[in-house]
Amino acid sequence: MKKIGILGGGQLGRMLLQSAINYPVETYLMENDAWAPAAHLCHHFSLGDITSFDDVYQFGKDLHAITIEIENVNIEALEALEKKGIKIFPNTTALRIVKNKIRQKQFYQQNQIPTSEFVITENRSDLMQHEGFFPAVHKLAEGGYDGKGVHIIQNKIDIEKGFDAPAVLEKKVPILRELSIIVAVNQQLETVIYPPVEMVFDNYLNLLNYQICPANIPEKVLWKAEAIALTAVKNLHSPGIFAVELFSDIDDNVLINEIAPRVHNSGHHSIEGNYSSQFDMLWRIMLGYPLGNTDTIIPSALVNLVGVSNHQGKVRYKGLEDVLKMDNVFVHLYGKAETKPGRKMGHVTILSNEKQELLHKVNQIKSLLTIVSE
Ligand code: ADP
Repeated sequence: MKKIGILGGGQLGRMLLQSAINYPVETYLMENDAWAPAAHLCHHFSLGDITSFDDVYQFGKDLHAITIEIENVNIEALEALEKKGIKIFPNTTALRIVKNKIRQKQFYQQNQIPTSEFVITENRSDLMQHEGFFPAVHKLAEGGYDGKGVHIIQNKIDIEKGFDAPAVLEKKVPILRELSIIVAVNQQLETVIYPPVEMVFDNYLNLLNYQICPANIPEKVLWKAEAIALTAVKNLHSPGIFAVELFSDIDDNVLINEIAPRVHNSGHHSIEGNYSSQFDMLWRIMLGYPLGNTDTIIPSALVNLVGVSNHQGKVRYKGLEDVLKMDNVFVHLYGKAETKPGRKMGHVTILSNEKQELLHKVNQIKSLLTIVSE
């Protein structure tokens, strides 16, 4: 049986391992917390630091393949393992490009993939030279996630909020819609594409509010979005799962925002909503099986369950029973013992052919189920 390792034991690793039970595979997982959401679901757990060369190398050296649930891993160790013949999903060339937002933007530019205009800043004081660029969005090159490495710079006064480290300063796009398209690439570099998802955000926490799939967008926007997503992913020349985040504006222009080279929050609905989920698909890819069917079975909406503000400590799912009574609603809890404001603790997928019903249930779930501390 193939031995496949996952770096990172959070909710993505958890859902990936839930899907592994359908395949002949021996699973390995490394995380620095033995109580991480995925820890008890693998065959072999290693306690270790996914950013340490030695830990990652030791973990991977006897495996057939490795995948990641977060980009912040020791890439030098993965490169050394790749040279030894261990397959890395995504490959390290793609990971190097995507892991760093400066390199990622340069990659779009070099491949003529439409993206917002940008300049590179080395430190905060560089921002002073780019006042003509404001309003803009400042993004830390490495280490930011879930909106934590992103600041809006409306004007000169906001410069002090900017990052004092290598970053990208992008022109602020007048966003009408935020879309995500997941592209799956097998080891022969053949691709399949999932139907687009529209994401609606909570501006305060910078976290996803709800998402809906398939996105209700004009055909022109769909074609552009699909073409951009496919072109971007094909130019990475890597097998794996890639979530391509895009913006569209009122003139139906479509720009790429970023790529996540792994299973992604914007694909969680695919567990119930699509014939082959993003997790199922990644096993097919890593094990060398045929690509799955990405079609939608029934349209879906997805609500992230995040810790409410002012609550920190042992988690309580207030209103869970009410939501479990609802039809065609699927609750996923990530098994995190402690909640804190904005922490992703689970998600709920709703299925329906009626958009009105999807939105009605999104609102019901948001008011019924809250993540608080005991
Ligand atoms: P992260 O990797 O932390 O999720 P993103 O690059 O996706 O960061 O940015 C987070 C959010 O900030 C986006 O979902 C979008 O709402 C907003 N944003 C990012 N870039 C721009 C931009 N150039 N113009 C306008 N809004 C942006």
